[in-house]
Amino acid sequence: MKILVINCGSSSLKYQLIDMENENVLAKGLCERIGIEGSKLTHKPAGKDVLEKAEAMPDHQVAVKLVLDALQDATYGVISNVNEISAIGHRVLHAGKYYSDSIIVNEDVKRVIRECFDLGPLHNPANLIGIEACEAAMPGIPNVAVFDTAFHQTMPEKAYMYAIPYEYYEKYSIRRYGFHGTSHRFVSKRTIEVAKLDPNNSKVIVCHLGNGGSISAVVNGKCVDTSMGLTPLEGLIMGTRSGDLDPAVVQYIANKEGKDVNEVINILNKKSGILGISGISSDFRDVQKAQKEGNHRANVAIDAFVYRVAKYIGAYAAAMNGVDAITFTAGVGENDAAIRKEVCSYLGYLGVTVNEEANKIRGEEVEISAADSKVKVFAIPTNEELAIARETRDLI
Ligand code: ADP
Repeated sequence: MKILVINCGSSSLKYQLIDMENENVLAKGLCERIGIEGSKLTHKPAGKDVLEKAEAMPDHQVAVKLVLDALQDATYGVISNVNEISAIGHRVLHAGKYYSDSIIVNEDVKRVIRECFDLGPLHNPANLIGIEACEAAMPGIPNVAVFDTAFHQTMPEKAYMYAIPYEYYEKYSIRRYGFHGTSHRFVSKRTIEVAKLDPNNSKVIVCHLGNGGSISAVVNGKCVDTSMGLTPLEGLIMGTRSGDLDPAVVQYIANKEGKDVNEVINILNKKSGILGISGISSDFRDVQKAQKEGNHRANVAIDAFVYRVAKYIGAYAAAMNGVDAITFTAGVGENDAAIRKEVCSYLGYLGVTVNEEANKIRGEEVEISAADSKVKVFAIPTNEELAIARETRDLI
């Protein structure tokens, strides 16, 4: 059985075709910078050369088509026909109050995903486009939605309640949900394994730092808190999202700029964060290049990002009354040694010390803390795709 996993992010589409007999990845790849200049497909078929294709990707629909072409390519392909694919598992951001588990996509499921556009304005539309593009390209092959909100359902009330009139929770289910759940589940579990912690006596902090970013506090394998809220806008400074701010800022900008609340929230989702402060890009690599060239705003953007990550780690160490291991994951967390080092420079009070040589490694599972570090620190590649493929197989 072959399962295609599609993970449509705000600006990226990651995919893996997985043979579920042995969980081997037949091909994987990434469409980067969708909707922004310089988009590129990198297709890595197992045992064959890598295909890199710089091609305009104005939206996710075009990206899906490029992926299917690459999978069937005469030279770089791994299948001869899309019918070899048994099912497609999709990472879907927000299920609101409707689903706490994965589900086979039908018209009702698509309606719910659409109803939750407001809750996940950057991802739910991209997720649905991904599903519909797959339905069109591969009619009759089932699609499964795996929701980002599921892992965080174990948060206690004190962590998920907003201090607003209770009736809004009762009437509209307004509360903190959390996202990147598939990644936090996978990486926290892997951290417990590689750190050789007792699964029933473990305190782990996972820093999922990609274009979107979130942190979770995981006690004995269960999420007790996470930085994203009702929507992915809360928490860390992200590629284009502001993260935490005084809600009165929304009113202030609206009044000053003659905008309505929706327009301001759109700005907080799409034009803020690293992009907003630096004015350069949402991509950390572009901003770091400018930082090295002495650009002040680029420097502030990166400093503020690192500072907020460090503050959340401190908060979660307090929330859990200690921490055994801290793990970095996702695009920035897996690859960016400088960011990891800077975050760790705030953690001396926890007894964290970094092994500089180990920290240089990118994209691999590695312990980056030194032997004398009181808290173990890791970089662990997330594997949302495998987790999604397993859930998809189980459902079909
Ligand atoms: P998402 O899935 O939320 O779109 P990713 O997890 O793919 O995000 O992360 C994208 C981010 O990772 C980009 O901002 C990019 O700058 C950063 N990134 C990717 N590769 C590297 C690298 N080699 N060094 C530093 N940053 C990187």
